[in-house]
Amino acid sequence: MKIMKNERTENLRELDRKYLWHPFTPMLDWIESEPLIIEYGEGAYIYDTDGRRYLDGVSSLWVNTHGHRAAKIDAAIRGQLDRIAHSTLLGLGNVPSIELAARLVSLAPAGLSRVFYSDSGSTAVEIALKIAFQRQRQRGEPHPSKVKFVTFVNAYHGDTIGSVSVGGIDLFHAMYKPLLFHSHKAPSPHCYRCHLGLKHPSCGIACLDALEDILKERSGEIAGVIIEPLVQGAAGMITAPAGHLRRVRELCNTYDVLMIADEVAVGFGRTGRMFACEHEGVTPDIMTLAKGITGGYIPLAATLVTDEVFSAFLSRYEEGKTFYHGHTYTGNPLACAAAMANLDIFKEDNVIENLAPKIARMTGRLKEITGMDHVGDARQRGMMAGIELVSDKLSKEPYNINQKVGVRVCMKTRERGVILRPLGDVVVLMPPLCVTAGQIDELMEAVRLSIAEVCGS
Ligand code: PMP
Repeated sequence: MKIMKNERTENLRELDRKYLWHPFTPMLDWIESEPLIIEYGEGAYIYDTDGRRYLDGVSSLWVNTHGHRAAKIDAAIRGQLDRIAHSTLLGLGNVPSIELAARLVSLAPAGLSRVFYSDSGSTAVEIALKIAFQRQRQRGEPHPSKVKFVTFVNAYHGDTIGSVSVGGIDLFHAMYKPLLFHSHKAPSPHCYRCHLGLKHPSCGIACLDALEDILKERSGEIAGVIIEPLVQGAAGMITAPAGHLRRVRELCNTYDVLMIADEVAVGFGRTGRMFACEHEGVTPDIMTLAKGITGGYIPLAATLVTDEVFSAFLSRYEEGKTFYHGHTYTGNPLACAAAMANLDIFKEDNVIENLAPKIARMTGRLKEITGMDHVGDARQRGMMAGIELVSDKLSKEPYNINQKVGVRVCMKTRERGVILRPLGDVVVLMPPLCVTAGQIDELMEAVRLSIAEVCGS
Protein backbone atom coordinates (compact mmCIF):
# COMPACT_ATOMS: atom_id res chain seq x y z
CA MET A 1 0.00 0.00 0.00
CA LYS A 2 1.37 3.40 -0.97
CA ILE A 3 1.30 5.82 1.97
CA MET A 4 0.46 9.41 1.05
CA LYS A 5 2.94 11.75 2.65
CA ASN A 6 1.42 14.53 4.69
CA GLU A 7 3.19 17.74 3.70
CA ARG A 8 2.87 19.39 7.11
CA THR A 9 4.28 16.32 8.86
CA GLU A 10 7.19 16.23 6.41
CA ASN A 11 7.93 19.93 7.02
CA LEU A 12 7.85 19.42 10.78
CA ARG A 13 10.14 16.42 10.49
CA GLU A 14 12.58 18.42 8.45
CA LEU A 15 12.61 21.23 11.01
CA ASP A 16 12.96 18.76 13.86
CA ARG A 17 15.91 17.04 12.19
CA LYS A 18 17.48 20.41 11.53
CA TYR A 19 16.97 22.23 14.84
CA LEU A 20 16.30 19.83 17.69
CA TRP A 21 18.67 17.86 19.86
CA HIS A 22 16.65 15.07 21.47
CA PRO A 23 17.36 13.69 24.95
CA PHE A 24 19.09 10.31 25.32
CA THR A 25 19.16 10.06 21.55
CA PRO A 26 21.93 9.08 19.13
CA MET A 27 21.23 11.99 16.81
CA LEU A 28 22.56 10.51 13.58
CA ASP A 29 20.15 7.61 13.94
CA TRP A 30 17.39 10.11 14.69
CA ILE A 31 18.14 12.32 11.71
CA GLU A 32 17.96 9.29 9.44
CA SER A 33 14.63 8.20 10.94
CA GLU A 34 11.04 9.21 10.27
CA PRO A 35 10.14 10.66 13.66
CA LEU A 36 6.61 10.47 14.90
CA ILE A 37 5.28 13.89 15.82
CA ILE A 38 2.54 14.12 18.40
CA GLU A 39 -0.26 16.59 17.87
CA TYR A 40 -2.83 15.86 20.56
CA GLY A 41 -3.97 13.44 23.20
CA GLU A 42 -7.17 12.10 24.65
CA GLY A 43 -7.31 9.79 27.67
CA ALA A 44 -4.74 7.01 27.33
CA TYR A 45 -4.16 7.76 23.65
CA ILE A 46 -1.91 10.17 21.78
CA TYR A 47 -2.33 11.12 18.13
CA ASP A 48 0.31 12.06 15.58
CA THR A 49 0.18 14.84 13.03
CA ASP A 50 -1.28 12.41 10.50
CA GLY A 51 -4.17 11.63 12.87
CA ARG A 52 -2.88 8.14 13.75
CA ARG A 53 -3.79 6.94 17.23
CA TYR A 54 -1.39 5.30 19.68
CA LEU A 55 -1.85 3.93 23.17
CA ASP A 56 0.52 5.85 25.46
CA GLY A 57 2.15 2.72 26.90
CA VAL A 58 4.76 4.58 28.97
CA SER A 59 2.57 7.49 30.15
CA SER A 60 4.63 9.99 28.12
CA LEU A 61 7.76 8.91 29.98
CA TRP A 62 6.17 7.85 33.27
CA VAL A 63 4.34 11.08 34.02
CA ASN A 64 0.72 10.86 32.91
CA THR A 65 -1.69 9.63 35.56
CA HIS A 66 -5.33 10.27 34.57
CA GLY A 67 -4.96 10.50 30.82
CA HIS A 68 -4.37 13.36 28.42
CA ARG A 69 -6.75 16.29 28.50
CA ALA A 70 -8.18 15.30 31.85
CA ALA A 71 -11.03 17.83 32.10
CA LYS A 72 -10.39 18.74 35.74
CA ILE A 73 -6.70 19.40 35.25
CA ASP A 74 -7.34 21.38 32.07
CA ALA A 75 -9.91 23.50 33.94
CA ALA A 76 -7.61 24.06 36.93
CA ILE A 77 -4.83 25.36 34.68
CA ARG A 78 -7.26 27.60 32.78
CA GLY A 79 -8.65 28.88 36.07
CA GLN A 80 -5.19 29.64 37.38
CA LEU A 81 -4.33 31.42 34.11
CA ASP A 82 -7.15 33.84 34.87
CA ARG A 83 -5.37 34.72 38.12
CA ILE A 84 -1.62 34.52 37.57
CA ALA A 85 0.73 32.22 35.65
CA HIS A 86 3.83 32.74 37.72
CA SER A 87 4.88 34.47 40.89
CA THR A 88 8.11 33.77 42.76
CA LEU A 89 8.54 31.99 46.09
CA LEU A 90 11.70 33.98 46.75
CA GLY A 91 10.36 36.52 49.22
CA LEU A 92 6.66 35.93 48.42
CA GLY A 93 4.05 33.24 48.82
CA ASN A 94 1.49 32.15 46.25
CA VAL A 95 -1.88 30.49 46.78
CA PRO A 96 -1.60 27.15 44.91
CA SER A 97 1.89 26.36 46.22
CA ILE A 98 0.69 26.78 49.82
CA GLU A 99 -2.44 24.70 49.33
CA LEU A 100 -0.51 21.99 47.51
CA ALA A 101 2.20 21.79 50.18
CA ALA A 102 -0.44 21.14 52.83
CA ARG A 103 -2.06 18.46 50.63
CA LEU A 104 1.26 16.73 49.93
CA VAL A 105 2.13 16.62 53.62
CA SER A 106 -1.28 15.16 54.44
CA LEU A 107 -0.79 12.38 51.87
CA ALA A 108 2.91 11.62 52.35
CA PRO A 109 4.19 9.01 54.82
CA ALA A 110 3.58 10.33 58.35
CA GLY A 111 6.43 12.46 59.61
CA LEU A 112 7.31 14.24 56.37
CA SER A 113 6.23 17.76 57.14
CA ARG A 114 7.94 20.36 54.90
CA VAL A 115 7.90 20.84 51.15
CA PHE A 116 10.68 22.39 49.07
CA TYR A 117 9.64 22.83 45.44
CA SER A 118 11.66 22.59 42.25
CA ASP A 119 10.92 21.60 38.68
CA SER A 120 12.27 18.15 37.78
CA GLY A 121 13.19 14.86 39.36
CA SER A 122 16.86 15.73 39.02
CA THR A 123 16.53 19.03 40.86
CA ALA A 124 14.44 17.36 43.57
CA VAL A 125 17.31 14.90 44.04
CA GLU A 126 19.99 17.64 44.01
CA ILE A 127 18.02 19.38 46.72
CA ALA A 128 17.68 16.18 48.74
CA LEU A 129 21.45 15.60 48.57
CA LYS A 130 22.31 19.17 49.52
CA ILE A 131 19.80 19.19 52.37
CA ALA A 132 21.17 15.90 53.71
CA PHE A 133 24.74 17.13 53.46
CA GLN A 134 23.99 20.47 55.10
CA ARG A 135 21.80 18.93 57.79
CA GLN A 136 24.69 16.69 58.87
CA ARG A 137 26.93 19.74 59.15
CA GLN A 138 24.34 21.76 61.07
CA ARG A 139 22.92 19.28 63.51
CA GLY A 140 23.18 19.95 67.25
CA GLU A 141 26.26 17.82 67.53
CA PRO A 142 28.05 18.65 64.27
CA HIS A 143 29.37 15.87 62.06
CA PRO A 144 31.56 17.74 59.58
CA SER A 145 32.85 14.49 58.12
CA LYS A 146 29.44 13.00 57.26
CA VAL A 147 29.64 14.16 53.67
CA LYS A 148 29.27 11.06 51.49
CA PHE A 149 26.35 9.13 50.10
CA VAL A 150 25.58 5.49 49.63
CA THR A 151 23.65 4.52 46.56
CA PHE A 152 22.82 1.26 44.81
CA VAL A 153 24.31 -0.40 41.76
CA ASN A 154 21.99 0.30 38.78
CA ALA A 155 20.53 3.38 40.50
CA TYR A 156 19.20 6.28 38.48
CA HIS A 157 18.33 9.59 40.10
CA GLY A 158 18.53 12.08 37.25
CA ASP A 159 21.00 13.76 34.94
CA THR A 160 22.43 16.71 36.83
CA ILE A 161 25.92 16.30 38.28
CA GLY A 162 24.85 15.55 41.85
CA SER A 163 22.18 13.09 40.80
CA VAL A 164 24.57 11.43 38.35
CA SER A 165 27.12 11.14 41.19
CA VAL A 166 24.65 8.90 43.01
CA GLY A 167 23.75 7.06 39.81
CA GLY A 168 24.92 3.60 38.92
CA ILE A 169 24.15 3.00 35.26
CA ASP A 170 27.44 2.91 33.38
CA LEU A 171 25.94 3.55 29.95
CA PHE A 172 24.57 6.89 31.13
CA HIS A 173 27.07 7.82 33.83
CA ALA A 174 30.58 6.49 33.05
CA MET A 175 31.44 9.36 30.69
CA TYR A 176 31.09 11.95 33.45
CA LYS A 177 33.14 10.14 36.10
CA PRO A 178 35.88 12.81 36.35
CA LEU A 179 33.18 15.39 37.08
CA LEU A 180 31.40 13.47 39.80
CA PHE A 181 31.75 13.21 43.56
CA HIS A 182 32.43 9.74 44.89
CA SER A 183 29.63 7.72 46.43
CA HIS A 184 29.65 4.21 47.89
CA LYS A 185 27.69 1.58 46.00
CA ALA A 186 25.67 -1.19 47.60
CA PRO A 187 24.49 -4.11 45.48
CA SER A 188 21.24 -3.83 43.59
CA PRO A 189 18.37 -6.05 44.79
CA HIS A 190 18.27 -7.74 41.40
CA CYS A 191 16.65 -11.12 42.08
CA TYR A 192 16.66 -12.29 38.44
CA ARG A 193 20.41 -11.75 38.24
CA CYS A 194 21.28 -12.16 41.93
CA HIS A 195 25.02 -11.59 42.27
CA LEU A 196 25.06 -13.95 45.24
CA GLY A 197 23.27 -16.68 43.31
CA LEU A 198 20.53 -16.84 45.98
CA LYS A 199 16.74 -17.00 45.82
CA HIS A 200 14.19 -14.90 47.65
CA PRO A 201 12.86 -15.39 50.35
CA SER A 202 15.36 -18.01 51.55
CA CYS A 203 18.17 -15.49 50.87
CA GLY A 204 17.02 -13.35 53.80
CA ILE A 205 17.78 -10.36 51.56
CA ALA A 206 21.48 -11.08 51.96
CA CYS A 207 22.31 -8.46 49.33
CA LEU A 208 21.76 -5.88 52.07
CA ASP A 209 24.64 -7.27 54.13
CA ALA A 210 26.99 -5.32 51.88
CA LEU A 211 25.07 -2.11 52.65
CA GLU A 212 25.40 -2.89 56.33
CA ASP A 213 29.14 -3.50 55.93
CA ILE A 214 29.57 -0.09 54.29
CA LEU A 215 27.55 1.63 57.01
CA LYS A 216 29.23 -0.24 59.85
CA GLU A 217 32.66 0.65 58.61
CA ARG A 218 32.01 4.21 57.48
CA SER A 219 28.92 5.67 59.10
CA GLY A 220 31.07 8.49 60.46
CA GLU A 221 31.60 9.74 56.93
CA ILE A 222 28.16 9.03 55.47
CA ALA A 223 25.41 11.64 55.23
CA GLY A 224 22.72 9.45 53.73
CA VAL A 225 21.56 6.49 51.68
CA ILE A 226 19.55 7.22 48.55
CA ILE A 227 17.20 4.60 47.18
CA GLU A 228 14.51 4.16 44.54
CA PRO A 229 11.85 2.48 46.70
CA LEU A 230 10.66 -0.92 45.40
CA VAL A 231 11.61 -0.41 41.75
CA GLN A 232 14.89 0.65 40.16
CA GLY A 233 13.09 2.12 37.17
CA ALA A 234 15.67 3.28 34.64
CA ALA A 235 17.79 0.19 35.33
CA GLY A 236 15.05 -1.86 33.68
CA MET A 237 12.22 -2.06 36.21
CA ILE A 238 14.25 -4.05 38.73
CA THR A 239 11.84 -4.89 41.52
CA ALA A 240 13.15 -5.23 45.07
CA PRO A 241 11.96 -8.14 47.22
CA ALA A 242 9.47 -7.50 50.02
CA GLY A 243 11.19 -6.29 53.15
CA HIS A 244 14.14 -4.69 51.32
CA LEU A 245 13.02 -1.10 51.83
CA ARG A 246 12.10 -1.66 55.47
CA ARG A 247 15.53 -3.14 56.15
CA VAL A 248 17.21 -0.14 54.50
CA ARG A 249 15.23 2.10 56.86
CA GLU A 250 16.36 0.04 59.85
CA LEU A 251 20.00 0.17 58.76
CA CYS A 252 19.80 3.94 58.31
CA ASN A 253 18.43 4.22 61.86
CA THR A 254 21.04 1.90 63.32
CA TYR A 255 23.96 3.69 61.71
CA ASP A 256 22.61 7.22 62.03
CA VAL A 257 22.46 8.17 58.37
CA LEU A 258 19.60 9.88 56.54
CA MET A 259 17.37 7.86 54.26
CA ILE A 260 16.44 9.57 51.00
CA ALA A 261 13.59 7.88 49.12
CA ASP A 262 13.48 8.92 45.49
CA GLU A 263 9.81 8.49 44.59
CA VAL A 264 10.13 10.44 41.34
CA ALA A 265 9.18 7.40 39.23
CA VAL A 266 7.23 5.30 41.73
CA GLY A 267 5.17 8.04 43.38
CA PHE A 268 1.57 8.95 42.60
CA GLY A 269 0.04 5.52 42.31
CA ARG A 270 2.45 3.68 40.04
CA THR A 271 3.13 0.85 42.48
CA GLY A 272 -0.51 0.50 43.48
CA ARG A 273 -0.28 2.84 46.48
CA MET A 274 0.03 6.59 46.44
CA PHE A 275 3.68 6.30 47.47
CA ALA A 276 5.88 3.22 47.27
CA CYS A 277 7.16 3.70 50.84
CA GLU A 278 3.63 2.94 52.08
CA HIS A 279 3.98 -0.72 51.07
CA GLU A 280 6.55 -1.23 53.83
CA GLY A 281 5.34 1.36 56.34
CA VAL A 282 8.50 3.40 55.84
CA THR A 283 8.94 7.11 56.42
CA PRO A 284 12.17 8.32 54.85
CA ASP A 285 13.94 11.40 56.23
CA ILE A 286 13.76 12.99 52.80
CA MET A 287 11.50 12.10 49.86
CA THR A 288 11.64 13.34 46.29
CA LEU A 289 8.60 13.69 44.03
CA ALA A 290 8.17 14.80 40.41
CA LYS A 291 6.82 13.16 37.21
CA GLY A 292 3.22 12.24 38.15
CA ILE A 293 2.81 15.14 40.57
CA THR A 294 0.97 17.31 38.03
CA GLY A 295 -0.76 14.37 36.34
CA GLY A 296 1.93 14.59 33.68
CA TYR A 297 1.06 18.13 32.62
CA ILE A 298 3.66 20.66 33.72
CA PRO A 299 7.15 20.35 35.22
CA LEU A 300 7.01 20.40 39.00
CA ALA A 301 8.93 18.61 41.72
CA ALA A 302 9.02 18.56 45.48
CA THR A 303 11.49 17.45 48.13
CA LEU A 304 9.77 16.62 51.41
CA VAL A 305 11.61 16.44 54.72
CA THR A 306 10.83 15.59 58.34
CA ASP A 307 10.71 18.12 61.16
CA GLU A 308 13.95 16.66 62.43
CA VAL A 309 15.75 17.51 59.17
CA PHE A 310 14.07 20.89 58.84
CA SER A 311 14.98 21.87 62.38
CA ALA A 312 18.69 21.91 61.45
CA PHE A 313 17.92 24.83 59.12
CA LEU A 314 15.42 26.70 61.32
CA SER A 315 17.47 29.72 62.25
CA ARG A 316 18.03 33.40 61.62
CA TYR A 317 20.19 34.95 58.94
CA GLU A 318 23.07 35.65 61.36
CA GLU A 319 23.38 31.96 62.24
CA GLY A 320 24.38 31.06 58.66
CA LYS A 321 22.19 27.95 58.47
CA THR A 322 19.98 29.01 55.57
CA PHE A 323 19.47 26.62 52.68
CA TYR A 324 20.79 28.72 49.81
CA HIS A 325 19.07 26.98 46.96
CA GLY A 326 16.14 27.87 44.74
CA HIS A 327 15.10 27.65 41.11
CA THR A 328 13.42 30.51 39.31
CA TYR A 329 10.13 28.68 38.73
CA THR A 330 10.02 27.12 42.21
CA GLY A 331 6.38 26.69 43.26
CA ASN A 332 5.00 27.85 39.92
CA PRO A 333 1.26 28.51 40.41
CA LEU A 334 0.13 26.91 37.14
CA ALA A 335 2.02 23.71 37.96
CA CYS A 336 0.75 23.68 41.55
CA ALA A 337 -2.84 24.22 40.36
CA ALA A 338 -2.44 21.26 37.99
CA ALA A 339 -1.04 19.19 40.87
CA MET A 340 -4.02 20.05 43.10
CA ALA A 341 -6.45 18.96 40.38
CA ASN A 342 -4.40 15.79 39.88
CA LEU A 343 -4.81 14.99 43.60
CA ASP A 344 -8.53 15.86 43.43
CA ILE A 345 -9.00 13.23 40.73
CA PHE A 346 -7.09 10.63 42.76
CA LYS A 347 -9.53 11.26 45.61
CA GLU A 348 -12.82 11.81 43.82
CA ASP A 349 -12.40 8.90 41.41
CA ASN A 350 -10.91 6.51 44.02
CA VAL A 351 -8.03 5.98 41.61
CA ILE A 352 -5.79 4.02 43.99
CA GLU A 353 -8.63 1.76 45.16
CA ASN A 354 -9.55 1.01 41.54
CA LEU A 355 -6.05 -0.03 40.51
CA ALA A 356 -6.16 -3.59 41.90
CA PRO A 357 -8.11 -5.19 39.01
CA LYS A 358 -5.94 -3.37 36.45
CA ILE A 359 -2.77 -4.58 38.14
CA ALA A 360 -4.17 -8.11 38.23
CA ARG A 361 -5.01 -7.93 34.54
CA MET A 362 -1.46 -6.88 33.73
CA THR A 363 -0.17 -9.75 35.90
CA GLY A 364 -2.33 -12.25 34.04
CA ARG A 365 -1.18 -11.06 30.62
CA LEU A 366 2.45 -10.92 31.75
CA LYS A 367 2.23 -14.58 32.80
CA GLU A 368 1.50 -15.56 29.18
CA ILE A 369 4.44 -13.48 28.00
CA THR A 370 6.80 -14.97 30.60
CA GLY A 371 6.45 -18.31 28.89
CA MET A 372 7.87 -17.03 25.60
CA ASP A 373 11.24 -18.43 24.53
CA HIS A 374 13.19 -15.18 24.72
CA VAL A 375 11.54 -13.63 27.75
CA GLY A 376 13.98 -14.08 30.60
CA ASP A 377 12.01 -12.25 33.24
CA ALA A 378 8.76 -10.30 33.45
CA ARG A 379 8.83 -8.06 36.50
CA GLN A 380 5.90 -6.06 37.77
CA ARG A 381 5.15 -3.80 40.68
CA GLY A 382 1.69 -2.31 40.48
CA MET A 383 1.25 -0.50 37.19
CA MET A 384 4.96 -0.69 36.33
CA ALA A 385 6.39 -3.65 34.46
CA GLY A 386 9.52 -4.64 32.59
CA ILE A 387 10.00 -7.59 30.24
CA GLU A 388 13.65 -8.59 29.95
CA LEU A 389 14.48 -10.17 26.61
CA VAL A 390 17.41 -12.58 26.48
CA SER A 391 19.12 -14.50 23.73
CA ASP A 392 19.17 -17.67 25.86
CA LYS A 393 16.50 -18.23 28.44
CA LEU A 394 18.31 -20.98 30.34
CA SER A 395 21.66 -19.26 30.73
CA LYS A 396 20.04 -15.75 30.88
CA GLU A 397 22.57 -14.69 28.24
CA PRO A 398 21.67 -11.16 27.07
CA TYR A 399 21.41 -10.25 23.42
CA ASN A 400 24.33 -8.42 21.84
CA ILE A 401 23.50 -4.74 22.42
CA ASN A 402 24.12 -3.98 18.75
CA GLN A 403 21.11 -6.15 17.87
CA LYS A 404 18.94 -3.46 19.54
CA VAL A 405 16.28 -6.03 20.30
CA GLY A 406 14.42 -3.83 22.78
CA VAL A 407 14.24 -0.95 20.32
CA ARG A 408 13.11 -3.24 17.52
CA VAL A 409 10.30 -4.71 19.62
CA CYS A 410 9.09 -1.22 20.52
CA MET A 411 9.16 -0.13 16.87
CA LYS A 412 6.95 -3.13 16.11
CA THR A 413 4.47 -2.24 18.87
CA ARG A 414 4.29 1.20 17.31
CA GLU A 415 3.11 -0.38 14.06
CA ARG A 416 0.40 -1.97 16.21
CA GLY A 417 -0.64 1.39 17.64
CA VAL A 418 1.23 1.29 20.96
CA ILE A 419 4.02 3.67 21.97
CA LEU A 420 6.71 2.14 24.16
CA ARG A 421 10.30 3.04 24.97
CA PRO A 422 12.64 0.27 26.09
CA LEU A 423 15.54 0.38 28.52
CA GLY A 424 18.16 -1.71 26.75
CA ASP A 425 16.48 -5.06 26.16
CA VAL A 426 13.85 -4.49 28.80
CA VAL A 427 10.48 -3.57 27.34
CA VAL A 428 8.97 -1.10 29.79
CA LEU A 429 5.23 -0.96 30.34
CA MET A 430 3.81 1.89 32.37
CA PRO A 431 0.42 2.90 31.06
CA PRO A 432 -1.50 5.83 32.57
CA LEU A 433 -3.42 4.82 35.70
CA CYS A 434 -6.67 5.51 33.83
CA VAL A 435 -6.20 2.64 31.34
CA THR A 436 -9.17 0.33 30.97
CA ALA A 437 -9.05 -3.45 30.98
CA GLY A 438 -9.53 -3.39 27.21
CA GLN A 439 -6.60 -1.03 26.77
CA ILE A 440 -4.39 -3.24 28.94
CA ASP A 441 -5.25 -6.14 26.65
CA GLU A 442 -4.47 -3.98 23.63
CA LEU A 443 -1.10 -3.08 25.12
CA MET A 444 -0.15 -6.60 26.15
CA GLU A 445 -1.25 -8.16 22.88
CA ALA A 446 0.84 -5.69 20.88
CA VAL A 447 3.83 -6.50 23.08
CA ARG A 448 3.34 -10.27 22.79
CA LEU A 449 3.01 -10.20 19.01
CA SER A 450 5.96 -7.83 18.63
CA ILE A 451 8.27 -9.94 20.80
CA ALA A 452 7.26 -12.99 18.79
CA GLU A 453 7.96 -11.15 15.55
CA VAL A 454 11.39 -9.85 16.57
CA CYS A 455 12.65 -12.68 18.77
CA GLY A 456 11.21 -15.57 16.87
CA SER A 457 8.58 -16.83 19.29
N1 PMP B 1 14.74 9.90 39.91
C1 PMP B 1 14.18 8.82 39.35
C2 PMP B 1 13.94 7.61 40.20
C3 PMP B 1 13.82 8.83 38.00
O1 PMP B 1 13.28 7.74 37.44
C4 PMP B 1 14.05 10.01 37.25
C5 PMP B 1 13.67 10.12 35.79
N2 PMP B 1 13.39 8.99 35.09
C6 PMP B 1 14.65 11.10 37.88
C7 PMP B 1 14.97 11.03 39.21
C8 PMP B 1 14.95 12.36 37.12
O2 PMP B 1 13.80 13.05 36.82
P1 PMP B 1 13.81 14.20 35.70
O3 PMP B 1 13.97 13.50 34.39
O4 PMP B 1 12.46 14.85 35.86
O5 PMP B 1 14.94 15.11 36.02
